[in-house]
Amino acid sequence: MNRIGTTIAAVSTPRGRGGIAVIRISGPDAVRVAEGMFIPKSGKKLSEISPRKAVFGSILDSTGEVCDEGMVTVFLSPASFTGEDSVEIACHGGVAVTQEVYLSALAHGATAAGPGEFTRRAFINGKMSLTEAEAVGLLIDADTKERMQLSGGAVRGNVTRAISEISEGLLDTMTALYAAIDYPEEDVGDEGEREIGGTLQRSLDKVNSLLGTYKVGKAISEGVKCVICGRPNVGKSSLFNLMTGEESAIVTQIAGTTRDILRETVSFGGVTLRLSDTAGIHESDDTVEKMGIDRAESEIEKSELVIAVFDGSEPLTDEDKSLISKLSTVTAPKIGVINKADMGCVITEDEISAISAVCTVVIRTSAGEITDGSQLESAISQLFGSDKIDLRHEAVIWDVRQREQLEHARISLEKAVMAIECGDPIDCVCTLAEEAMCALNETDGRGIEQHIVAEIFARFCVGK
Ligand code: GDP
Repeated sequence: MNRIGTTIAAVSTPRGRGGIAVIRISGPDAVRVAEGMFIPKSGKKLSEISPRKAVFGSILDSTGEVCDEGMVTVFLSPASFTGEDSVEIACHGGVAVTQEVYLSALAHGATAAGPGEFTRRAFINGKMSLTEAEAVGLLIDADTKERMQLSGGAVRGNVTRAISEISEGLLDTMTALYAAIDYPEEDVGDEGEREIGGTLQRSLDKVNSLLGTYKVGKAISEGVKCVICGRPNVGKSSLFNLMTGEESAIVTQIAGTTRDILRETVSFGGVTLRLSDTAGIHESDDTVEKMGIDRAESEIEKSELVIAVFDGSEPLTDEDKSLISKLSTVTAPKIGVINKADMGCVITEDEISAISAVCTVVIRTSAGEITDGSQLESAISQLFGSDKIDLRHEAVIWDVRQREQLEHARISLEKAVMAIECGDPIDCVCTLAEEAMCALNETDGRGIEQHIVAEIFARFCVGK
């Protein structure tokens, strides 16, 4: 539903008790709505006060009675978050008073804003690109430092700038292609074709490198489903507690203590792990324990990262060997952890090789006494690439929609590079480049036609 033209209001701070709450109003009538419900102490009308200046005064409820005192700031279009006239009312943050101020905004002519409507308006009004708008949502939801850095970088335009840079390079190529189509008598020649092929390839490389960031972006934004498995008593719960930084799992010397699955979301190794500690995988006659073991096996199959724990202070048991054979059927990355390093190394080189053969990486730890998870952290960050990325400053995509659009661009660019190499007609190369441009623009929500047309003609010289 397109409600642009209406004036919307919402409580923009979380529900609950707080020092202050902010009610945001946006739309053509924002100042008029606020004037009806706010009397500045200075006696001046709100519309006469300079924008972006906080004004103190009395706030009226829907019946016209004073219900609170607070600060009001007016933002005039286009210099506001939404690009529209907007007003922010800061009142006391009690549940009842906040609701009263909000209802007063509705009574004075505003309509209730839908979810994300302020940001949607900001996008529609050209205040931000689609990836920037998507990043605002992620930033608000961010509960770890990495999520905050990733979304904060994207809000500040890291992804938008990377996409614009690729589009600009492609636009240069398309300008040359259009010229070649319009003026066939001026043959592009082998040299020209090589040049076009080179710039298309550079655009393709950049698209591929942006696509390459999806793995880490997704691992941070959505989290990686990660299971800790192994036979009883190898140190799974100790490792789980080490990773979560809490005593969530019960650690005892009695085998089979963890009978169900414990879950926790942690920021570890620069990514978000949706962690589960499973019941030890072994043969058991206990019905409850058996159910736990079955769940552990299915958990391994559903995981995106498996941490398989072995006790390095003992030789491998049959249960360890059956875990190794189970791991060989799992496609997700697997980290073999040879634990209890402090108790000496009884496990043989051959046994370690058998673990290495099915695991992506093998590390030695002491999860019990010496609580150092740095080796495991660096193994995880290397697996997901978070060690190579500066989230604050580099472009990182995280959303499946962004990836799909960039995939379309990649496929079209690959075909375009191939077409120019095979000497296909220029208009065929041009169509493929247009498709790539269209996909790139859609990644950032820009409408293709006006954008391409305006830029292309701005670059043509007079007379051509
Ligand atoms: P789980 O059954 O696999 O979850 O194993 P736990 O985490 O409950 O650990 C079993 C026992 O081994 C406990 O007594 C732990 O304190 C001990 N333990 C775990 N990790 C280590 C370690 O690295 N070194 C030593 N010495 N003991 C450990």
